[in-house]
Amino acid sequence: MTKRNPNPDPEIFELTTTRKPEADADTIVLQQGGVPLHDAVQDTLQASADRGAYHIWTIGCQMNVADSNHVAAELERIGYRPTEAMDEADIVVLNTCVVRQSAEDKGIGKASNLKPWKRNRSNRTLALMGCMVGVKPSPQLRARFPHVDVFMPPSEPGPLITHLQQDQIAAESALFETEQIAHRHAMQDIVQPAGAGQSIRHLAVNGEAAVTAHVPVVYGCSHACTFCIIPFRRGIERSRPVDEIVSEVRGLVAQGVREVTLLGQIVDRYGHDWRNGTENGSLPSRQPDLADLLHAVHEVEGLWRIRFLTSHPNYMSDRILEAVRDLPKVCEHIEVPTQAGNDEVLARMKRGYTQAQYRELVDHIRATVPQVAINTDIIVGFCGETDPQFDETYQLLADLKMDKAHLARYSPRPGTVSERRMEDDVPEAEKVRRHKALEQLQAQVCGEINARLLGETVELLIEGQHKGKWRGRTRQNKLVFVNPEDRAGDLRGRLVEAQITWTGPWSMQGRYVQERSPVEA
Ligand code: SF4
Repeated sequence: MTKRNPNPDPEIFELTTTRKPEADADTIVLQQGGVPLHDAVQDTLQASADRGAYHIWTIGCQMNVADSNHVAAELERIGYRPTEAMDEADIVVLNTCVVRQSAEDKGIGKASNLKPWKRNRSNRTLALMGCMVGVKPSPQLRARFPHVDVFMPPSEPGPLITHLQQDQIAAESALFETEQIAHRHAMQDIVQPAGAGQSIRHLAVNGEAAVTAHVPVVYGCSHACTFCIIPFRRGIERSRPVDEIVSEVRGLVAQGVREVTLLGQIVDRYGHDWRNGTENGSLPSRQPDLADLLHAVHEVEGLWRIRFLTSHPNYMSDRILEAVRDLPKVCEHIEVPTQAGNDEVLARMKRGYTQAQYRELVDHIRATVPQVAINTDIIVGFCGETDPQFDETYQLLADLKMDKAHLARYSPRPGTVSERRMEDDVPEAEKVRRHKALEQLQAQVCGEINARLLGETVELLIEGQHKGKWRGRTRQNKLVFVNPEDRAGDLRGRLVEAQITWTGPWSMQGRYVQERSPVEA
C-alpha cells in the first residue's frame, strides 16, 4: 500500500510504501523449464520467511517510487513483511531526493531522527537510498550519518539485500549449485515446454495485483542541464536491454498489470548510449531506440496500455511519434518539458533548444498524433531571469495551451553548475509571484481543455477507488471519477467507457457506459 502524505510541492511525492502480504507471500515458486526445483531449495527459501518487518519512506519523483517498490519486492522475496509503524520495523529504508531543498531537508531530518530508533535495538538495519547517496556515498555523508548501516545508490537494492543475507546467501548458493546440476541432468531427459520460465512475483496493492506499473528503461542522465543534480546523483545514461524489459513487462502482466509506463530521465534517448558513432557521424549498425522498444512491448499479450516519460525536446524523433500514432496500446500522452520560454534563459540552463524550436516541436507532435495530450515542466526564477524574459515563458504557455504544466520555483542545488557559477538573483517573493501567475494561467487552460470533453465518451482504465468512487485515467492521462451506483460489481482493472458529466481543471466525473474490449497485440 502506498500512502501519500500531503506535500506542499506538487512535483515531489512523499510516500510510505508498505505492501500487505499476499496469501502466498512466503512462497516463491521457482521453476525452470516447467520443472520445480528441488524441495530442499523451496524449503530454504520458505525457511527465510518472516525474518522481520520493513518500512520504506520515499520522497521524490516517480523513479524513486518505482525504486522503492523494487526494494519492497526484494525484501518480501527474502522473507520480510511490511509495516506501517516505523517503530516496529527491523529495517527502515529512506529513499531520498535532492531536487528541491525542501525534499533534501526532509531526508536529512528523517535520517537524523532515526538515531534513537537504531540505538534502541542494535540489530536493526537503517538504509539510506536515492539521490542523497548518489552513485557512490561520499565520506562526508558516511561521517554525517554513522548510524546508517547501508548506503544504496538509486535503483540499486543490491547492497541492502546482500547486507541482510550474507550467511544465507552462501548456504543457498551451495544448495542452488547442487540443485542446478541435478536439474540440468533431469532436463536432458525431457522436452522443454514452450514459454516456461522462472515465475516473477510483483507488487500487490492491498493484497490485490497492481493495475499500473512503472518500468525503468534508462537509468541516469548524461545531459547535464545547469540546474540539475540528477546526472551527478544517478550517473551516466544506461539503457536496459529490450529483452530484459519485455520479460519484466510480461511478468507484470501475468500478475494483473494492464498498463506500464516506461521511465527514463530522458526516455526518448533510450538506446542512444549503445551507439558508437563513427567520425562522419554515421552509425555502424542501427541499435534499438525507443520506437523499437515500444513495438516490442506492444507485442506483450494481455497488456492494454503503454506510456513513456520523460522526453527531452531534442530527441523526440518521428519514429517515436509514429509509434505513438500507429500502435494502439501506446497512449496519446507525451511529457516533454520546456523549462523556460526565453532563449537566453534556455541557453543558461543548457537545454539545447530555443523557444521557437520548442513551439515547432509541439506543433509537429500535434500534427502527427491526433488527440495527443502534451505536458510540460517549467522552472520560474532561474538565475538572471528578468521580468521580460519571464513574460516570454508566460506567453509560451498561454499560446501552446499544454494539457498539464508541472511548475517549480528555482532553488540552487548544491554541486550543480548553476549553484557553482551563477547567482540566484531573483528574489523569493518574485519567484512566488511568477509561479502563481503561471499556476492561474494553467488552471484556466486545463479547465478549458477538460470542458471540451463534457458529454463526450472516453476510455478509462479503472485503477482503484477513491472516497467511494471508481478512479480511472483516460488515454491522455486525465483523471476521471465514476459513480459506483452506475454499475454493480468490481471495476478495478477494467477498461470501460464513461460519459463525462462534469469537468474541472484537475479532474472530471463520468457516468459508466459500458465495458470496452482491450486492444490485443
Ligand atoms: S535532462 Fe536535464 S533536467 Fe532532465 S535529468 Fe538530465 S540533466 Fe536533469
